[in-house]
Amino acid sequence: MLQPNRYWQTSMQASSLSQADLLNHLIDEAEAIVIGIGAGMSAATGFTYIGKRFTDAFPDFIEKYGLLDMLQASLFQFEDTQEYWAFQSRFCLLNFFDQPVGQAYVDLKDMLEGKDYHIITTNADNAFYAAEFDMDKVFRIQGEYGLLQCSQRCHQQTYQNEALIREMVEKQSDMKIPRDLIPYCPKCGATLEVNKRDDKGMVEDGHFYEQKERYEQFLKENEDKKILFLEIGVGHTTPQYIKHPFQQMTEKNEKALFVTMNQKEYFTPRNIRPRTVRIDEDIEEVLHLANNK
Ligand SMILES: [Zn+2]
Repeated sequence: MLQPNRYWQTSMQASSLSQADLLNHLIDEAEAIVIGIGAGMSAATGFTYIGKRFTDAFPDFIEKYGLLDMLQASLFQFEDTQEYWAFQSRFCLLNFFDQPVGQAYVDLKDMLEGKDYHIITTNADNAFYAAEFDMDKVFRIQGEYGLLQCSQRCHQQTYQNEALIREMVEKQSDMKIPRDLIPYCPKCGATLEVNKRDDKGMVEDGHFYEQKERYEQFLKENEDKKILFLEIGVGHTTPQYIKHPFQQMTEKNEKALFVTMNQKEYFTPRNIRPRTVRIDEDIEEVLHLANNK
C-alpha cells in the first residue's frame, strides 16, 4: 500500500511500524499539520447516528416516519415547524449542548500539543468544545448545531439560545413544541432553523469568516513546508471541503504527505498515491495507542 516519500523518513520505515507508531512518527516529523475531521471521527468515539443512540432518543419519530438514521432524520421535511423543533431540539441537546467528551478527540488534542496545526471539520456537533480544543485552530465549515439561522437566509447572522432549546425539549408533547416557543427571525419574521448547510447554502456570519480566514492563513503560511494532511473519518458525502482540497494541496507540494484514517477505502488519484498513507484500523483505538506511547 505505502510507497516511500523521500522527504519523510517515517514513510521509508512504515512497513515495520504499527499504525499507532506510524501516526506518531508522522506527527513528530511534520513541520505543519492540517487535520480534516469528518463524521467517522465522532462515530468512532461513540457519537453514532445509528443504533441505540438514535432509537433511544427518537422512538416516536422513528415509528411515525420509519426514519433509518439520525442524519436522514435531521434533514427530514417534518409536517410543520412545531414538529421540526420537537425533533431538532432533542437532536441539539444530544449532539451539542449535552454531548459528553469523546476520548478520540482528547487523544488527538493531546497528541497535537506543541505542534503547529490547524483543523477543518464538517462536523457540526460539540465534540471540539467538549474536549477543550483551542477553537482558534478549528474551522467549522458546515455550521454548528448550537446556533440558529433565518430559514429564508435573509441576513448573515446566527443566534444562540440554549435556554429556548431546553424549554422546547421539556415542554413538547405528541412530537410538537408549544406554538409560542417557535423562534422567528428578528429581521424578516420567517422562522429560525438550525445553522447547517443544505442545497441552498447556509448563513455564514462574521464568526464563520474569521474561522475561514485563520484556516486559509495557516495554509498559506505553510504551503511550501513538509506538511501533513491528515484526514480522519472523512467519507464521500461532501468531498469538496476536505478530501479533494487535501489531495490537491498534496499534489501541488512534493514535500506534503496525505494520510487518510478510515476503515473504508476511497479512491485516491493516481498521481498522489506515492504520497498517500492509509491507516485503516479503528480510529479511536489508533489515536488512543498513539497518544499513550
Ligand atoms: Zn430573516
